[in-house]
Order: sequence, then C-alpha cells, then structure tokens
Amino acid sequence: MPTPPKNALAPLLEYQQTDIALKKLLAELNKNPEVKKLDKTKEEFSAAKQAVSDSETEAAVIVAFFKQAEVYYAESTKKIEELQAALAAIPEDELAGRKELVSQLESTRDRLSNLERKVIDRRKSGEAVVRSYRDAQDRGKKLKENYAQLKERIDAFKKDKEPKIEALQKKLASMRTSVDPALLERYRTLAADGKYPPVAESKSMDAGKTFTCLGCGLSISQASKSELLQGGFSNCDNCRRMIYKI
Ligand SMILES: [Zn+2]
Repeated sequence: MPTPPKNALAPLLEYQQTDIALKKLLAELNKNPEVKKLDKTKEEFSAAKQAVSDSETEAAVIVAFFKQAEVYYAESTKKIEELQAALAAIPEDELAGRKELVSQLESTRDRLSNLERKVIDRRKSGEAVVRSYRDAQDRGKKLKENYAQLKERIDAFKKDKEPKIEALQKKLASMRTSVDPALLERYRTLAADGKYPPVAESKSMDAGKTFTCLGCGLSISQASKSELLQGGFSNCDNCRRMIYKI
C-alpha cells in the first residue's frame, strides 16, 4: 500500500485497510472448501441411512413371506400325507373316488413345487437385500468417520480465524470514531452499492495532465482533478469512488 494521504481521507483509508483484512478473513471462513465437503458428506450419510432403512423394510417383507411359506408348506405336506392315506384306504374299484383323490394330490404337489420356486427366488433377493444392507452400513460408518475428521479440521480452522476476526471487528469499531462521519457514510453507501473498496487510488500516467481512477480504470474530469490536486482527494466521476492521489 502507498503512503496514505495526509488529509481527511487518511483515517478512512486506514479504516478501509482493516475492513479489507476483515472481509478477507470472513471470506476464508465462509469459502472454506471443507465446509462444502462436510455438507456433501452429511447428504451422503442420510442416503446411506435411508438405504439401510429401505433394506430393513424389504427384509421384513421377505421374512413375512418365509413365515407364510413355512405355514403353507406344513399344511400342504400334511394334506399330501392325508390324501396318500386316503388313497391307500380306498378300494381299487372305486375309480371315481380314486381319480378325485389323485387329482387333489397332483394339484397340491403342483402348488407345493410352485412355492419351492418362489422360495428359491426370494432367497436370492433376500441375499441381495442383506448385501445392500451391509454395504450401506459400511458406507455409513466410513462417512461418519469422514464427517468427524472434517468437522474437527473445520473447528480448528474456525478456532484459528475467529479471534483474528474479533480483533479486527473491535479495531474497526474503535477506528470509526476518528473517521469523518460524512465520509464514513459515503463509504458505507459505496460498499453497499458494490463499489468495493470504496476508496481508490488515482494515478497520473502523463505527468499530471490527466488522472485515472484505479477503482474503475477511467480518467476523471478536470474539475475532479483540480479538487484532487488541491485537497488531496476527490470523487471519481464515473464510479463515484472516493479517490486520492498517489
Ligand atoms: Zn472510478
């Protein structure tokens, strides 16, 4: 930084230097890429948690199926035994009765083998559910570890920056009293309008014939130039920044 001008703008320029340092620190704190990573980890963790819960729901459906299948299997085997016993007991010449029993026996056996096929299918999907449950749990565990590490680093980063930020904020508050209130107000308006930093240097490239505002890069008017040369500071006609001569 060049030597500040020795005029009413000098305290404001010092104020601006502190303000810039504070903004830089705040930006470092807010733009810490690890904060973004932390949010992403949090999202991924909820997705893993959801996958665990989905697997549990699917597993409950499969378990219910197996319970039903077990009951059905027991009932069917009992029925087959009964039909076989009935068939053994019925006289050979009662053809209609025998035919009916055989038909019942066949359809019961068919239903049972259908069930067996379904059991095999369900067993396969059950294995897949268990796999995805375990995967999601492993993923969740790793994400939790990552989250804790990131959080620790972010907290350490904050712990380092926060006292510096506080010190700068205090310094700014104490500096405010030595700045001309009208200039401070103008500073705030310009900053709010996005003209930051509000105080800019003005430099002559042609031995003082014209002056350029280094805030916007444009030449200032002759009137502003006179003001700049006489009082040491002026305003840029283009960007409205307060300018001083270097
Ligand atoms: Zn300008």
